Amino acid sequence: MNSNNSKTVLITGAAGFLGSHLCDRFIAEGFRVLGMDNLITGDLKNIEHLAGIEQFTFIHHDVTTFVEVPGPVDYILHFASPASPIDYLKIPIQTLKVGSLGTHNLLGLAKDKKARILIASTSEVYGDPLVHPQKETYYGNVNTIGPRGVYDEAKRFQESMTMAYHRFHGLETRIVRIFNTYGPRMRLNDGRVIPAFMGQALRGEDITVFGDGSQTRSFCYVDDQIEGIYRLLMSDYSDPVNIGNPNEISILDFAKEIVRLTGSDQKIVFKPLPQDDPMQRQPDITLAKEVLGWSPKVARAEGMERTYAYFKGLTKDELYRSEHKDFSTHNRH
Ligand code: UDP
Repeated sequence: MNSNNSKTVLITGAAGFLGSHLCDRFIAEGFRVLGMDNLITGDLKNIEHLAGIEQFTFIHHDVTTFVEVPGPVDYILHFASPASPIDYLKIPIQTLKVGSLGTHNLLGLAKDKKARILIASTSEVYGDPLVHPQKETYYGNVNTIGPRGVYDEAKRFQESMTMAYHRFHGLETRIVRIFNTYGPRMRLNDGRVIPAFMGQALRGEDITVFGDGSQTRSFCYVDDQIEGIYRLLMSDYSDPVNIGNPNEISILDFAKEIVRLTGSDQKIVFKPLPQDDPMQRQPDITLAKEVLGWSPKVARAEGMERTYAYFKGLTKDELYRSEHKDFSTHNRH
């Protein structure tokens, strides 16, 4: 019998990309999983396979309002947040609220339940970094009032709030700084580069590179990311830890890789670079190696193949729907 089967974990953002993979992982480890989501950017399709499982309960709730959960909770993972630049532009205030008010509510719940809480932070706390690669000790270069500021500053506040609960209330806290992560269940139309390029290849459209494509990113496959998060939660390390894959590539070279992978003869076209788009990004994962014994295992070629197989499996309707999320009802604040 699994030793975790009496433990309960609450996962916010459970119907999202990372949240749904975390639900799978914790169920496989024998936990009772409470998956919470308000379904603004999440999709029940990501967790529909868990619907009949006794270990799993879905709670439809917006964590920016008071969070109440019956019974004991041992762990909380706060993964609810819009996560793509075009989402921040459409729902900027929700983005700020879930990182700040949502985090506050969950820290309060963790204190009440005497639970350990892990907070999903981001490489965006480094902004457009002037130090390369980015170590946890770098304080970052963020434009507070730019379009990305709503996400970046919410996450920076979230880290401060979490450390305050840790220091002041003695709460057991963990902070993961997630670098670009990809894999099955990313939202096709969320504007991020991997679903964008794969969707374009599948629809026979031009591949849109923003700017001259010299900006870099370092892409981590979702299974590696989940393993890093799991190890961090189970560790006794309370300062922030970068989890990402240091294998860095320019967006233009990446577009060429996608053209090769998809066997499409799509043209690469250039579009304006969005404001404050970071020019370079690569995690320094020395700390994760030291304290968690973690490093990524899945090479980009393999991870991209698995991801492409997922996108190929979408229905024609899903592939051609321009945006399957209607945010209009969520913008009343
Ligand atoms: N990007 C691009 N074409 C697209 C979508 C994104 O060239 O159709 C670029 C974007 O400008 C950025 C990089 O790809 O430099 C990664 O963008 P994404 O939105 O995936 O994540 P983030 O900027 O948050 O790392």
